[in-house]
Amino acid sequence: MSQSVILQNVKTTDERSIDIKIENHRIADIVPAGQGQGDKVVDFEHKVYVSSGWVDLHVHAFPEFEPYGDEADEIGYKTGVTTIVDAGSTGADRLADLIDMNQKAKTNVLAFLNISRIGLQRIDELSDLSLLDGEKLKKCVAEFGEHIVGLKARISKSVVGGNGIQPLKKARQFSNETGLPLMVHIGSGPPHINEVLDLLEENDVITHYLNGKANSVFDENGEPLPELLEAIQRGVQLDVGHGNASFSFVTAEFAKKAGIPFNSISTDIYRKNRLNGPVFNMANVLSKFLYLGYSLKEVIDGVTRNPAKWLKRPELGRIAKGDTANLTLFTVEEKETVFRDSEGEERKADQLMMVKGVVINGEYIEC
Ligand code: ZN
Ligand code: ZN
Repeated sequence: MSQSVILQNVKTTDERSIDIKIENHRIADIVPAGQGQGDKVVDFEHKVYVSSGWVDLHVHAFPEFEPYGDEADEIGYKTGVTTIVDAGSTGADRLADLIDMNQKAKTNVLAFLNISRIGLQRIDELSDLSLLDGEKLKKCVAEFGEHIVGLKARISKSVVGGNGIQPLKKARQFSNETGLPLMVHIGSGPPHINEVLDLLEENDVITHYLNGKANSVFDENGEPLPELLEAIQRGVQLDVGHGNASFSFVTAEFAKKAGIPFNSISTDIYRKNRLNGPVFNMANVLSKFLYLGYSLKEVIDGVTRNPAKWLKRPELGRIAKGDTANLTLFTVEEKETVFRDSEGEERKADQLMMVKGVVINGEYIEC
């Protein structure tokens, strides 16, 4: 029998005060604040929130690749994120290495498989159609399916070169053949954003939907494109994917005003934007959405319930007795902070989220 830990006097995002007992890697009990009993008690004095462990649907966790690479634990549990989803850093050539390397990490790692066999070894991975090898992709899915949550296609000019919409048509075909949804990165055209939107189906994910580029899903007046509204109607999901170049306050303000909320908030984090910004970490990205006027519950759902539902792993988005214990402990501090977006624009905010600790697969770690 392992030692039990009581996380005492923590708050949920619906403002309930509870104690959580962790034992044998699981959530052993959830009781009203002050009633928990166990071997080790950590008292958070009603000052700290608890949520299920944060899920980041768009990261780059293959350290070998430059510029889009990083170490799983640096962008994972150390920043309060207990599950990361690598967004197509590797294709069929190297996915096995990505999985193998991340077995040693504490952080839980899942992956989108890049439709280009070379992944982000080169950052114009869809400019040569011969790299979209369907046979190799299907073989990889058959072998590593339990780790793969979808297929990744980066559909912007610098990635597809002269191939326009062709790589996305191929991606659609691979998706139909494997039954895996697509995560599609959007950015500068060609292809035109409407050509991209029209090919997306239920459960596909658009990442970088708040980018500030010309080929955006919002028109110059800040209105959502009719093709975007139709895609949402079909069940297409919207993901933030902040990154170096893909989050604009102006676009995010358009989206808020037009009532086009995110399904998931993700960072698109890797070494450079973690160390130098504008991403830094998940708490920093989430704080920007508090600034934009979303409620704490809406923001936290964007990294817990919503991505968990999309992943069809509801246990990743709830705090429930019997589940493997993955939890994030954080505060919302009244603190004047200047946030910067990917366009270099700044906003002055008065709240900042800070991670205080995590429980990763049953192990409590103070951050
Ligand atoms: Zn991208
Ligand atoms: Zn990315």
